[in-house]
Amino acid sequence: MTRRLLAACAMLLGTAVLAREAPVPQQVADGVFVLEGAREHFSRANGGDIANTGFIATPAGAVVIDTGASLRYGQAQRAAVRATTGRDAVQVYITHAHPDHFLGSQAYADVPVQALAATAARIARDGDRLAQNLYLLVGPAMDGTAVRVPSALATPAVAPGDASQAPAAVSFGGRRLQLIALHGHSAADLAVFDDATGSLFAGDLVFFERAPTLPDADLPAWLAALDRLAQLPVRALVPGHGPVVRGTQAIAQTRDYLLWVRDTLRDAAARGLDMHEAMRLRAPERLRRLAVLEAEWQRTVMQRYPAVEQGIWPAAR
Ligand SMILES: [Zn+2]
Repeated sequence: MTRRLLAACAMLLGTAVLAREAPVPQQVADGVFVLEGAREHFSRANGGDIANTGFIATPAGAVVIDTGASLRYGQAQRAAVRATTGRDAVQVYITHAHPDHFLGSQAYADVPVQALAATAARIARDGDRLAQNLYLLVGPAMDGTAVRVPSALATPAVAPGDASQAPAAVSFGGRRLQLIALHGHSAADLAVFDDATGSLFAGDLVFFERAPTLPDADLPAWLAALDRLAQLPVRALVPGHGPVVRGTQAIAQTRDYLLWVRDTLRDAAARGLDMHEAMRLRAPERLRRLAVLEAEWQRTVMQRYPAVEQGIWPAAR
């Protein structure tokens, strides 16, 4: 492709980027706001804005949870924080090291950005590669985006996966948040629970009405993490993807999906199906309404089936 043609394409795509609407915060509880992502795969049309992010207003300023997929998103999110709460952000937490959740952190250059230690380490190691991969999928919506590595949380919450461990509590102007260190969707998954309203930011440990992604999944750990989250007095649950929902039904739906994946892959391997045959297996009726189900199932089979056939997944690693 000639340079001129590339420039023309960039201009056209740039127009599409400019036309994208800024995220609109949805209030889900007193002082708790969510920016809901598109229930889709990454595309140029959605600019990578597929994950939910949110913020909690406190007397000390806003606490932001995840920063989206690009500098552009992070900037729009920060503007929404200011417009909605009348205060700027004082703290950012990143739930995990998937690029749709942390690449907007650059917009918070003067604000502390923290994550679990394993998340910070993964972003330091792989952040640039993850950003480049995403750029190939979503294009100029990510222009100017650079990785900002979070600092590791220096609290008792840093040991990911120990479900018996008490969460770390932090307070912003008297508003108390629990930071709960888990893993299973990825090597480290941080959940944030607002005591005042019973609002749970579950990160990608919980999906709702959208098929979960499993590229880094440790299924036994993920199921244990769901058990832990189900013990919380949840009133509003903010999943990593999908609509905010009252109570814990999204936890049950995520568990249902993961158990179906586990059992179906094991059964397919036991029956000697090849990968393409496994890809054609269908989910039960109750799961078929999940957005992007077919594509996620095919991706999961591609990513996981060889290990299932070898008997090394989904056993704990
Ligand atoms: Zn994720």
